[in-house]
Amino acid sequence: MSRKDFAVSVLDALEAAYPDAVCSLIAKEPWQLLCAVRLSAQCTDARVNLVTKELFEAFPTLDSLADAPIEAVENIVRPCGLFKVKAQNLKDCCQMIRDQFNGVVPDNMEDLLTLPGVGRKTANLILGDVYGKPAVVCDTHCIRICNRLGFIKTTDPYKAELGLKEILPPDRSNDFCHRLVLFGREYCTARGPKCDSCPLAILCTYHMDY
Ligand code: SF4
Repeated sequence: MSRKDFAVSVLDALEAAYPDAVCSLIAKEPWQLLCAVRLSAQCTDARVNLVTKELFEAFPTLDSLADAPIEAVENIVRPCGLFKVKAQNLKDCCQMIRDQFNGVVPDNMEDLLTLPGVGRKTANLILGDVYGKPAVVCDTHCIRICNRLGFIKTTDPYKAELGLKEILPPDRSNDFCHRLVLFGREYCTARGPKCDSCPLAILCTYHMDY
């Protein structure tokens, strides 16, 4: 079986196990999703969703968050950790989107990467979820699981992204990453993966080695 065929087999099995592939971060607008992803660094999605509910109630528009008093933003995002840098990033991001991109979140990697605090993971998520473009969101879950599956042999996020882009069908790569989050929570946890009941066990190199 070729690497691409192998990847499709895994995608099919994941799709059967998790028909709904949605981002677990709650956001109504692209700029809100961008803020939520920035806050999710070293924080759980559940906590981010609690924080963004309060944040977007207090500052419901791009403009209002761009012009918000920094102390007010810091106080709200404090539970997410790294609150000073995250609060500043959110404000700076909103200002840049408003002033340099006519209030529209960019739809390409190059421009997205110019936004404060936005790296390839965030940019990929925006490209995939907002603009429906092929994207691979290489977070720690994706890297861990894809190494175990034998898709890649690297923990470097950029190399992992490139490696996955070589084998994943572009039109399915974004949903694949969302499904990995659910799968990583239920079966392929960082510690003590539940290989005995895993729906991908028959395909997994990690499982075969142990
Ligand atoms: S068999 Fe185990 S290591 Fe492999 S994907 Fe499933 S849970 Fe993860």
